Amino acid sequence: MGNRAKAALLLEEGYRKILEAFEIMGYPVKTDDNFTETSGRAARAMLEAVRPTAEIQEELDQMLGRTFSARYDEMVISKHNVSFGMCPHHLLPVIYRISIAYLPGQRVLGISKLSRLVHLLARRPVLQEDLTQELATLLFERLETRGSAAYVEGLHLCMASRGIEAHEARVVTSAVRGVFRDQPATRQEFLDLVTAPQLNLL
Ligand SMILES: [Zn+2]
Repeated sequence: MGNRAKAALLLEEGYRKILEAFEIMGYPVKTDDNFTETSGRAARAMLEAVRPTAEIQEELDQMLGRTFSARYDEMVISKHNVSFGMCPHHLLPVIYRISIAYLPGQRVLGISKLSRLVHLLARRPVLQEDLTQELATLLFERLETRGSAAYVEGLHLCMASRGIEAHEARVVTSAVRGVFRDQPATRQEFLDLVTAPQLNLL
């Protein structure tokens, strides 16, 4: 049995326990048919939100293995990608808005790949700080760029769903490498682009 199948079974077992707890808390888990297949459904949903690391690694290698010769040397930016992740402290969802950028070296990544990269790496139970650093490092080191940057805003449901003051809590993290770190003007250009008020194009 593969790791994904093993994980699915364990998750289903775990969700059955959660439902038992709900029953003790007074919810009609046994009699309301909305709960009939919940443990299996919840397990599948969790496996979409958190993907096995081996799958992520494989997809990442494929993605970074197909690059194009750079024909320009200006900043490439993929802005405001809405992605979903999971906080490792509470296992509750995080809704991210992620912008990444790089200054090409010899090779560039197809522009749609940047969004895929963001979605791929977000779907893990990792801290927002670590996700931000990893995105910047990956674009800098594996793509051998002159510099890279990541700007991540996270709406953490663990914060938003508890306590009145935290309802609007957004966590903002950023990371810069290479030219973005060494040249304040480049970093500022990136920050201005990703934090500018958005005009709706569609
Ligand atoms: Zn949390």
